[in-house]
Order: sequence, then C-alpha cells, then structure tokens
Amino acid sequence: MRIGSGWDLHHLKAGRPLILGGIIIPSLRGEEAHSDGDVLIHAIIDALYGALGDGDIGSHYPDTDPAYKDVSSMRLLDDTLTHMGERNIINLDSTIILDEPKLRPYIDTIRKNLADAMHLSIGQVSIKAKTSEHTALDVISAQAVVLLS
Ligand code: MG
Repeated sequence: MRIGSGWDLHHLKAGRPLILGGIIIPSLRGEEAHSDGDVLIHAIIDALYGALGDGDIGSHYPDTDPAYKDVSSMRLLDDTLTHMGERNIINLDSTIILDEPKLRPYIDTIRKNLADAMHLSIGQVSIKAKTSEHTALDVISAQAVVLLS
C-alpha cells in the first residue's frame, strides 16, 4: 500500500472558465493558470506522484514549458496514470474549497467524469466541497488523498 497527498491553489479571474475534474462549472470567474487550471486534477496528480514517490506535477509538467500552455489537465491525469504502471488506485478522497458558486449540484457529475477517466467506480471517488467562510474569496484550492496498491 502507498498513500499520497496533494494540494493546489489558483487565483480566480473574471472571464476564465471554472474547470473542476474536467467539467466546466457555470461561474463568472475561473482559475488563472498556464494550463486549464483544473485545481482538483492538479491536487490529484500531486497525490498520485506523491504515492509513487516520484516528484510532483511541476517536475513532470513544468509551467515554463510552452507544451503545457492551456493543456487539458485531463490529458495530464491520463499521462500520470500511465506512469503508475501495474499499481491500482484503491480510493481517492478530495476536498475543494471555494465560496462561489456552490458546487453541490455538480459534485456527482465531477465524480462520474473522474471515475471514468481513472477507470474507477464512482464509489472509489469522493469529492467534498467547502467554503472558506469568506476568508479566501479570490482563490480556489483543492486537497486530495489517494491510496495505491
Ligand atoms: Mg495548479
């Protein structure tokens, strides 16, 4: 068994799409980033590389590399899964911290999209959403923990 944890944070910017787990969420602001800014997938990728003991998202997909400009984080996740070789994901648990918009209506859609992308059942993919209690209105952050066998 190997456990990994990941965390990420992005500024929110007007006119950018808000993308979480590969799903576009209706919002006036989205993640400011070199890539598509999918903060949830970035935390998951860091958790996976952490469990592998093999660096982090920045060492595998540097944001100074033009190849990753506006890249879909789903593509990076797919590449990360190929790095895992024969290892299996037992479960994934994650938390998104965002004040607006409320994410509850979209959580199951995100879970399903991630479960499909990671070849998992929806019961293996937990996504929770919290607010910052208005202490961090201009950012979105996400935490993820994975267990590999
Ligand atoms: Mg990021």
